[in-house]
Amino acid sequence: MLYKYMEINKIIEKVKEYNKDANIDLIKKAYEFAVKIHEKHLRASKEQYIVHPLNVAYIVAESKLDEQSVAAALLHDVVEEGNVSIKDLKEKFGEEVALLVDGLTKLTELREKSREKYEAESIRKMLLASTKDIRVILIKLADKLHNMRTLDYLSREDQIRLAQSALDIYTPLAYRLGMDKIKSELQDLALKYLEPGVYHELVEKVNTRFRNREKEIRDVIEILNKRFRESEIKVNITGRPKSIYSIYEKMKKKNIDFENIYDVVGLRIITETIKNCYEILGIIHSLWKPIPGEFNDFIAMPKSNMYQSIHTAVNNHGKIIEIQIRTKEMDEIAQEGIAAHWVYKNIYGDTKFDKKLSWLKEFLEWQKSSEDHKEFMDELKLDFFDREIFCFTPKGKLIELPKHSCIVDFAYVVHSDLGDKCVAGRVNGKFVSLRQEVKNGDIIEVITEKNQRPRNEWLKFVKTANARTKIKKSLREHGEQIITPIKEEEVKKNSILMVKGVKDASIVFSKCCQPLPGDEIKGLLVKNNLVKVHQPGCTGLKDKKKIIDVKWIDPSEKIIGFNIDAYDRMGLFADILNQIVQTKTNVEKAQARIVNENMARCIFSLKIRSMEHLRDLLLRIKNIKDVKNVDVGIV
Ligand code: MN
Repeated sequence: MLYKYMEINKIIEKVKEYNKDANIDLIKKAYEFAVKIHEKHLRASKEQYIVHPLNVAYIVAESKLDEQSVAAALLHDVVEEGNVSIKDLKEKFGEEVALLVDGLTKLTELREKSREKYEAESIRKMLLASTKDIRVILIKLADKLHNMRTLDYLSREDQIRLAQSALDIYTPLAYRLGMDKIKSELQDLALKYLEPGVYHELVEKVNTRFRNREKEIRDVIEILNKRFRESEIKVNITGRPKSIYSIYEKMKKKNIDFENIYDVVGLRIITETIKNCYEILGIIHSLWKPIPGEFNDFIAMPKSNMYQSIHTAVNNHGKIIEIQIRTKEMDEIAQEGIAAHWVYKNIYGDTKFDKKLSWLKEFLEWQKSSEDHKEFMDELKLDFFDREIFCFTPKGKLIELPKHSCIVDFAYVVHSDLGDKCVAGRVNGKFVSLRQEVKNGDIIEVITEKNQRPRNEWLKFVKTANARTKIKKSLREHGEQIITPIKEEEVKKNSILMVKGVKDASIVFSKCCQPLPGDEIKGLLVKNNLVKVHQPGCTGLKDKKKIIDVKWIDPSEKIIGFNIDAYDRMGLFADILNQIVQTKTNVEKAQARIVNENMARCIFSLKIRSMEHLRDLLLRIKNIKDVKNVDVGIV
């Protein structure tokens, strides 16, 4: 069987490319052993089983891992499939390789139990082994990747199950470890099996779009190359279509069609020094108009998975081109993540590197007591996806938080005392309440008062387990009862209108004439119980038959809830608060949350003095820049 030897030689050649002194004998020995053990095993594809470990080892070599990792990849299934003991492996290949294989081997004793429990416990075991030796996870990801590449041979049911676990567990892991290449391929493969129709349609569309823009992209690259030659900056520019999954995700998140996604094509500029990166950025912005809001400097502010790059997007005759600029080393880290870090320096004892893994250790520590395997998996998925916000202390220290965290969460991460004593925050220079959600890039100062202590109501809006634990601890110390909060959502409201003769009417205010409280109004019955409210003279009231009487309810001394939808921007919440304060209104409740990438919803409960007061408030809020819609009702 000639192909086997060709394959192992391919791996050995790959290893030699980046490590001339590699222990090739170890790799050969591992290979020969694996061939013997898997001799009678077949894959679902009816191929010789050894094809799988060989491919996994090749992916490991592509990530430039060391020879122990390559050997362990070749041996990763001999315990599970061939009943070889870890002790045997230790004698033959040394402790290091044996420990790696052990970490990659699923539990044997739980096999008879439910599949979910067995999978969950096996993942826990693998993650634990990874906190001691990160190479376990790196090899596991290669294993998962090759399995995903060969899903065609499995039953539809297994395809869906494995694709879902790739998306739930392994792509977030790859993301957290900064292994973008593996993450993107896993995501695309998962989509291919979970939503085959969508996937194939997108592949087709992306290819067409890329072909259509090929000449334009070539022209842009030519212009850039010429300018960089003149400035004597050495670069390597490549054009690439974005990953299918990232486009799919964007379409879903923004609820838009493919036709409205502009950044399907991107350019990547690799250069030598950081200084070059900024020079290149300057040149690009002098050639084309940058798109506002698309500029990100991840060189000055690296992501927590070590990713560094400058992102910008420019307008080339009405067409948008997304551009990434980074150094060669940054590029390797961007693609290979932790694996590249491995090559650049010996990572043991590297404290910065240890910190990158601390989330994993912390997570397993938290979950140590969890007996419930379902809870473990749910928390695992949550924790991986949720840590997405990166913000800063005034001194520039990076703080990482889950999405929808607030000022109190931030304060507790910085220091317990800061959390206990916080009364407000200042975000990018503007005062905000403790409930204020933090956003990427925010610079946050926590304002404290020495007599402050944690409040029961904080439990309603904090997001992190860390803050919750500390608040509860303090409440207990002060002998306070801990009230389990109900999650706050939009204010539940009754209409501020009375409608005659329609049972359970749902009411909308017309967009055409936008009546304000106190205005004369008429209702138009649109559907069974949907009433649109207009001003009497409005052309929207054409169909006279369906007109019904509506009346404002006197809002005096009532608490009125406001749901305000607005394009999110810095200072939005503060602007709204400012208008409210100017009308001398009592604020019963104030809350803001991000609805999606562009929109925020601010929720207020305000005590109203009179119809005029309500009218004044509504007018003021509607006139604030970026406010899209205001919805009011009696709380
Ligand atoms: Mn395997």
